[in-house]
Amino acid sequence: MRKFLIAANWKMNMYRQEALELIRGVIEQTKLFPSVDIMVAPPFTVLETVNGEIQNTQIRLGAQDVFFEESGAYTGEISPGMILDAGCTYVIIGHSERRQYFHETDEIINKKVTAALKNHLIPILCVGETWEERKQGRTFLVLNQQILFGLQGIDNEKLSSIIVAYEPVWAIGTGKSATKEQIQEVHAYLRGVIKEFTSSNEMAFNIRILYGGSMNPKNAQEILSQKDVDGGLIGGASLNIDSFSSLVQIA
Ligand code: PGA
Repeated sequence: MRKFLIAANWKMNMYRQEALELIRGVIEQTKLFPSVDIMVAPPFTVLETVNGEIQNTQIRLGAQDVFFEESGAYTGEISPGMILDAGCTYVIIGHSERRQYFHETDEIINKKVTAALKNHLIPILCVGETWEERKQGRTFLVLNQQILFGLQGIDNEKLSSIIVAYEPVWAIGTGKSATKEQIQEVHAYLRGVIKEFTSSNEMAFNIRILYGGSMNPKNAQEILSQKDVDGGLIGGASLNIDSFSSLVQIA
């Protein structure tokens, strides 16, 4: 059986003191629910701070992005080995904000996923359509391309450790999540694409697919009870101890 993962994406929020308060509160309020996997992805500047707090808990550290080269003259970039060294288990790759504001293409994203896997990190590959694309009936086409290009050249053995996050762009940070029917439809579709890509029923069944986009304690129950939903990637609601901990409890 697939285990739920509730993943926090703090985005560009949290100074050191705030980060400490948030993570300490989350540890305190989630320790009663050890059957749920939890990931927290803080900004790079507080990775170490958060890592120091989560030792001996079920919470694992994630980075919000990574570069694909191992080392060298890439001013401002951070390598997979470096985030591993900082204590990360997971890394979010291809978030729509990266695609939109930093012009990340499927090709770049593919290099990042490949580099992360090579360094034994678990990539959380984000895919999602814009509202425009959904209106034009292109949702599945867009997702198909993002998945197939994102995973190009990666063999089945490595693929078994990746996680996919479906994040409709129009639902992120808008307070308007996709409906449970829309979510289940896309998740089942993505599982099908992975089945085709890997030629493996087992791999398609085992891969975890998270939903992200305005998930909160009010809508989490119905979203998480969909058959093909294996957890959530949480932005806004992850910045508050009570709401994030409630999501863990619901899962
Ligand atoms: P949101 O963000 O929960 O604030 O909509 C989700 C995400 O971007 O991962």
